[in-house]
Amino acid sequence: MSIDSSNPTTTEKTTGRIRLKNQEAILAAAAEEFACHGYKGTSMNSIALRVGLPKANLHYYFSSKQGLYVEVMRNILELWDSAFSNLRAEDDPASALANYIRGLGWAAEARTGPMSGDMTMIPAAIEAGMGQLGKHGSIINDTWGASFRLSAVTTDLPLLSDAPRDIGVDDFCTRCQVCSSLCPPDAIFADKQTVRGELKWYVDFDKCIPYFNDTLGCGICIAECPWSLPGVAPKLTQKMLRRRSR
Ligand code: SF4
Ligand code: SF4
Repeated sequence: MSIDSSNPTTTEKTTGRIRLKNQEAILAAAAEEFACHGYKGTSMNSIALRVGLPKANLHYYFSSKQGLYVEVMRNILELWDSAFSNLRAEDDPASALANYIRGLGWAAEARTGPMSGDMTMIPAAIEAGMGQLGKHGSIINDTWGASFRLSAVTTDLPLLSDAPRDIGVDDFCTRCQVCSSLCPPDAIFADKQTVRGELKWYVDFDKCIPYFNDTLGCGICIAECPWSLPGVAPKLTQKMLRRRSR
């Protein structure tokens, strides 16, 4: 009688399954730790605590934090590669992202503009740190300026929240009168107004919308906004923030 060494025993199979399960749990915990605290703020100890294993066990599977980080990144890139390999340049980004999230097993719905249903895009984008509200009532971003369209994906995927960012738009708009002086129906207030208890830039849409519809899409305020000039937004942001720090 001989033993076939190529055939794993039941014990070996069980050990293999436990090892795989532990590795997966460690990688998932490490991904969360790195996402929450960055590379520097994460330690093997914090990962061990999150996964609920002794630190020595962690070192048995991954000898160093750097090795674990590389493995986490490799997994993420493989996931992205497989999820996005069928994408075409002409695909709608929000729909593609929603498909990707659904592929991970979470609910996701693409909200593409300009008609986004019951979702108001600009406040959500400002809360997510994508830019600041300009006097013309549109969001201004530090890379794309004022002339771009927003899309969103609503999902129950657990995510870290971003926060609003100051890129100097408010200071700039306080001194600039381009949009308020050029708006044909005079819909843009030159100064901030109190809206539902909050002082903010305000556009009278009872004046804007009829003119917008009559002209099949006005957009003068966006087109003439200094932030809309190609390549200007990053320089304006730097200038405004530099001025603020003096
Ligand atoms: S879209 Fe036209 S009408 Fe409406 S606020 Fe801008 S400039 Fe005024
Ligand atoms: S045109 Fe001037 S005031 Fe109006 S949003 Fe742009 S920067 Fe602000």
